Amino acid sequence: MLKITPYLGPSVLIVSIAGLWYPMLGYFMLLVMGTLFISSIFRGRWFCGNLCPRGSYFDYGIIKISKKRKIPKVLSSMWVRIPVFSLMMAFMLYRISVTIAAQNTIELIGMIFVSICLVTTVIGTMLGGYFNTRSWCNFCPMGTMQRFIGGKKYQLKMDHESCIDCKKCEKVCPMELKVRDIGNNPDCIKCGRCIEICPKDSLSF
Ligand code: SF4
Ligand code: SF4
Repeated sequence: MLKITPYLGPSVLIVSIAGLWYPMLGYFMLLVMGTLFISSIFRGRWFCGNLCPRGSYFDYGIIKISKKRKIPKVLSSMWVRIPVFSLMMAFMLYRISVTIAAQNTIELIGMIFVSICLVTTVIGTMLGGYFNTRSWCNFCPMGTMQRFIGGKKYQLKMDHESCIDCKKCEKVCPMELKVRDIGNNPDCIKCGRCIEICPKDSLSF
């Protein structure tokens, strides 16, 4: 986690709400997409745990109202992730393609990004409030894309010799991963919480 990570969350609300009046704010989503695409080539889902405004919104905002129930495993299955990814991409490309011929194209495309941001924020807020905070991150199309691009990069390493099996690492993992069997899990968001809490320094990148 970076020093800036806790302060990124409000930008999600600014784009989702103020964007309805100022559609140009939607282009912030393009900046986010471009950055995560590049970082995923080298560090997999590192962006999700360090620079994602929505992730920060969940970790430092939604955590205050979350019931913290276990995230249903089905949300991270490819049966959910591939259709969600395909639907979002198809919706975005279709809406952009029918907008290109219109007047005010730049503003209308900005509004497409704003509407996507708003809808996904509402879904993520509801899931994060009812289940654990990072429920949305289990099937987020951008997380799925990073997983496919660089899921094997920058993996968490575990020293089984020094581990005392206290399971503190698994209690703090926002993705509810089995940290002690982390292997090459491509859905680790590299937040580093498990490393910070481990009393035996058994975990590292
Ligand atoms: S395994 Fe560790 S670094 Fe990866 S998501 Fe869980 S807590 Fe964060
Ligand atoms: S916190 Fe460290 S010592 Fe405890 S189970 Fe996790 S890796 Fe092992």
